[in-house]
Amino acid sequence: MTVLDLLIAGEKRAAEGGRTFSRKNPLTGKVATEAAAASTGDAVAAADAAAAAFPAWSETGPGQRRALLMSAADALEARKADITDAMAAELGATAAWAGFNVMLAAGMLREAAAMTTMIKGEIIPSNRPGSMAMAIRQPAGVVLSMAPWNAPVILGVRSIAMPLACGNTVVMKSSELSPRTHALIVEAMQDGGLPPGVLNVISNAPEDAAGIVEALIGHAAVRRVNFTGSTRVGRIIAKLAAENLKPALLELGGKAPMIVLDDADLDKAVAAAAFGAYMNQGQICMSTERLVVHEAVADAFVAKLGEKVRSMAVGDPREGNTPLGCVVDKGAVDRILSLVREAEDKGATLVAGGQADGVLMEATLLDHVTPSMRIYTEESFGPTASIVRVGSIDEAVRVANDTEYGLSASVFGEDAVRAMAVARRIESGICHINGPTVHDEAQMPFGGVKASGYGRFGGTAAIEEFTTLRWITVQDGQPHYPI
Ligand code: NAD
Repeated sequence: MTVLDLLIAGEKRAAEGGRTFSRKNPLTGKVATEAAAASTGDAVAAADAAAAAFPAWSETGPGQRRALLMSAADALEARKADITDAMAAELGATAAWAGFNVMLAAGMLREAAAMTTMIKGEIIPSNRPGSMAMAIRQPAGVVLSMAPWNAPVILGVRSIAMPLACGNTVVMKSSELSPRTHALIVEAMQDGGLPPGVLNVISNAPEDAAGIVEALIGHAAVRRVNFTGSTRVGRIIAKLAAENLKPALLELGGKAPMIVLDDADLDKAVAAAAFGAYMNQGQICMSTERLVVHEAVADAFVAKLGEKVRSMAVGDPREGNTPLGCVVDKGAVDRILSLVREAEDKGATLVAGGQADGVLMEATLLDHVTPSMRIYTEESFGPTASIVRVGSIDEAVRVANDTEYGLSASVFGEDAVRAMAVARRIESGICHINGPTVHDEAQMPFGGVKASGYGRFGGTAAIEEFTTLRWITVQDGQPHYPI
């Protein structure tokens, strides 16, 4: 099996000492990918290469960066078959999920291309006679980008597209669970024509992650950090970034609530709940984890959703004929099942699913979930959804907000004004009225509040994240100093 190399200064190279690590196919247990296991020295070399490439790249015009990002989008789409194979082998992902990843990620590259001419400043009236004062945005420097495996193409591309569009150079740390998928993104970017050193990639063995991340955040040339992953690791990144006084964009875990009001269209709500809870086996940060349902419609909603969930089969993703494929590994399945069993022991009703065969876990729906159960609080990051019945709008809002997380949410109700009033009271970065909690578009300000992190990817909001706003004046030099 060919070993995936690191990419440093435009050159593919083995890790120091030739060390490698392997990622196994979750379904077959066979090695899916053998990848270079970077040392801390390799990581520092990647940051040095990015620093060396920064002066020239930061001076490129928007037209050049736009053209490169546009051709990278085409190159990414051209790799769809390879990416689908890699995602199936490394993650047991379905072809549908891989195709959606490529489509949205290509859109993110094209949106980032469009943003290159949106990096604007302003002229600010100055009190000093003869002075012109400007606020201008400049590239920040080297950006450290860390992306997870669950939507590997979308989140991998998202971690680098706007940093590059803004004129920064990048060190990308790929996920240990999807190094080949992430390497294919980088190949597409290289095909797009990125100069050497503008994008560097480090893959690492899981046990080396902490040291490598610490070295990279501490590297003098690294000026921005972005991390998508769990809240547990996000807190570590936040501390390291704070110690080094580096701004960080953190996209962390979620426990998205979907509120079903008493005037909801139940068929539409059921369709959105099934998609939001079980797409990609619930392994999406925006996955619907809690269904907060008004008791006036709860029995009807649970009956309809239960029927839908029981119809959603799980199967071998390589056969491609079931809506659900693999959970990422057996350990995750065991953890998710333990949450389900504990909830049942404490009185929750199992409406559908609840069993697994290896990494193939059934779509699982629990009713009458209460705060005493771990699944009420903990992100399952798997194919489960929990129904909490409520008696009023105030109670619905209280339950929706009764979580440390705050990434996505949704509200179903036919009276849009009433539903909007509910949406405004929900503590989350994102909320959709009459739509599922899972929804992403490249141009939208994407991000969370509370333990879901801070900062925003997407569109113009990301320009603020990946540029430095400077105050520059041109003065007439006339002396009017007190001394
Ligand atoms: P994870 O946090 O377990 O791992 C992310 C990365 O952290 C790994 O690649 C690893 O290299 C690194 N890491 C591990 N230990 C470290 C340490 N001690 N110091 C520094 N780095 C360390 O997350 P995951 O399992 O890859 O992803 C799943 C999580 O990501 C879920 O919680 C999910 O909700 C979240 N997520 C969030 C978003 C979003 O946009 N908000 C999107 C997708 C996933």
